[in-house]
Amino acid sequence: MADALYDIAEPGESKAKEACAGRAVGIDLGTTNSLVAAVRDASPVSLPDAEGRMLLPSAVRYRADGAPIVGREALAAAALYPHDTIVSVKRFMGRGPKDAETTRRFTPYRFVEGDGPVVKFAVAGPREVTPMEVSAEILRALKVRAEVALGGPLEGAVITVPAYFDDAQRQATRDAGRIAGLEVLRLLNEPTAAALAYGLDKKSEGMFAVYDLGGGTFDISILKLTGGVFEVKSTGGDTALGGDDFDRALAELIVAKTGGDAATMSASAQRALLDQARAIKHQLTTEETVLLDTRPESGSVTRAEFEAAILPIVARTAAACKRAMKDAGIDRGQLDGVILVGGATRVPAVRAFVEELFGHEPLADIDPDQVVALGAAVQADLLAGGGPREDVLLLDVIPLSLGLELMGGVVEKIIPRNSTIPTGAKQTFTTYADKQTGFDLHVVQGERETVNECRSLARFQLKGIPPMAAGMARLEVTFLVDADGILRVMAREQTTGQESSVEVKPSYGLTEEQIEQMLFDSYEYAEEDLTARLLAEARVEAERILAALAGALVSDGRLLSAEERTAIEGTMAGLAEAVKAGDHHAIRKRTSELDLQTKPFAERRMNEGINRAIGGHQVDEIGDRVEHAKGTAAHEGPGGGH
Ligand code: ADP
Ligand code: MG
Repeated sequence: MADALYDIAEPGESKAKEACAGRAVGIDLGTTNSLVAAVRDASPVSLPDAEGRMLLPSAVRYRADGAPIVGREALAAAALYPHDTIVSVKRFMGRGPKDAETTRRFTPYRFVEGDGPVVKFAVAGPREVTPMEVSAEILRALKVRAEVALGGPLEGAVITVPAYFDDAQRQATRDAGRIAGLEVLRLLNEPTAAALAYGLDKKSEGMFAVYDLGGGTFDISILKLTGGVFEVKSTGGDTALGGDDFDRALAELIVAKTGGDAATMSASAQRALLDQARAIKHQLTTEETVLLDTRPESGSVTRAEFEAAILPIVARTAAACKRAMKDAGIDRGQLDGVILVGGATRVPAVRAFVEELFGHEPLADIDPDQVVALGAAVQADLLAGGGPREDVLLLDVIPLSLGLELMGGVVEKIIPRNSTIPTGAKQTFTTYADKQTGFDLHVVQGERETVNECRSLARFQLKGIPPMAAGMARLEVTFLVDADGILRVMAREQTTGQESSVEVKPSYGLTEEQIEQMLFDSYEYAEEDLTARLLAEARVEAERILAALAGALVSDGRLLSAEERTAIEGTMAGLAEAVKAGDHHAIRKRTSELDLQTKPFAERRMNEGINRAIGGHQVDEIGDRVEHAKGTAAHEGPGGGH
């Protein structure tokens, strides 16, 4: 039926539309939660998982065998498998083992020793995984979810990143997308995505503050919007401030009320307490009072008490906001709007605080924990050419200047920060010593003047220049930043007219081969994932048949001879055995055996059921009566009446 309808539509046109529209997604790859959205019927919507949930906790648990577990289930077992469950992996993107981010933080992870460019976790398997691979697991889970929801393979994805992410962190995010088998259409700044979700585009102009309070991070960005260009004027925040701190403050309040002692609690009791605190925190967003237990006498927490406990934490966001406005060269009177992002901004006291701070009632009618993904979906739709808004020009800017190290560790900026992307620049350099036959080039990113205070992005060499006197060689260096803010550097010696090839060896990120290996690994797992799904489906089907048959044996067992019954019960036991053993081929085989074997039983039951319904007549007789009734109807004509 559906096929027939499909053929009636103009095949070429409708199929082309179907292939493009709605198959590009936006992904918010968050520190705490991740989610995926797509434009459907001209507006962006989040895509739910099988249980209808939008947020996927950004947690990945590796196991000794089998594919990693992603999301809620991984998070729930994090305390049991502290080394194998990676949470907040976003903090490690684009970071090396010697990076402050890796060494500073107290984490339960086992980092692989070494000074390679990429930090690695040693996890069950045993395996060594990079942050890109961990993120790829999260992305893959969202990809599968989106493919199910949209009914087919994805065209591509826009993935969001914090505005302050440097080139290495962006490249790592892009690599994660590739490992997950996604076509990354573009990386998009999170505040820009939020602004897009609110429909701020070509038609809007002005200064906007985006206040993003997530689970463990606080980001403030000031965006300037002119003629479709989003310029990040300034960013700031605190990488150790978020809703998790509210949980801890509330947990302390609960302990104080119930007279416990957090210091002497077991680790699992502490975990349980924090979970309880988070649940109560969520309730207090909409309710004034929440009971600590089902029994009223065990006490309650009021919203006012909670607000008093978190106020010092919320107040810590003020300094960063003021600094960001100062950096952007504006005061709050010059702001045209404030946008709320992040689950923790659902807390009414946070909203009130933001309003007070900026003197603006913040925009909050889009779910703050979905707004970034929704904006990314709008952008993805534009890039995939789906929506009617193809005319919207949307440009982003590079967040930090890109440059080269010169003699003496000084940095020469080639592309200044806030250049709109894509962008490029050329600069010419010369040799510093006589008879120099090569150049060492060191690409850095940052605003500081000395190389030690900038981030090292790549080192490469240009060799094969004929020996010349100092100052004679002319080296032209080209920097190109593509629409994702990702950099390519090329160098050419000009005086000799001779082109030398250069190889950029990034000191971060992954080589082509590494990515290929990871893609390969992921295919291996993909097969495993598929097997797991086939098994799950086969099991469900088998269990359904076994349950139905068990019921039928009780109600209609008398329709079977003793031998028939024994035979069926034998096959049932065999199938139950196969379900336990977990081989989907065996389960399928026995399911069809059982199906075939019980056909006569099913027929007898059906006959009997019909007989019962018509009060003892034989089925053949009924057939006659139906024929007869039809004949009568035909005779009387379609109207049926006189
Ligand atoms: P991230 O950007 O770090 O991935 P999210 O934007 O998803 O994080 O925010 C997660 C935080 O939001 C958590 O601390 C969570 O408890 C909090 N949160 C989510 N929903 C609510 C709510 N209804 N009330 C209060 N806090 C909430
Ligand atoms: Mg976020």
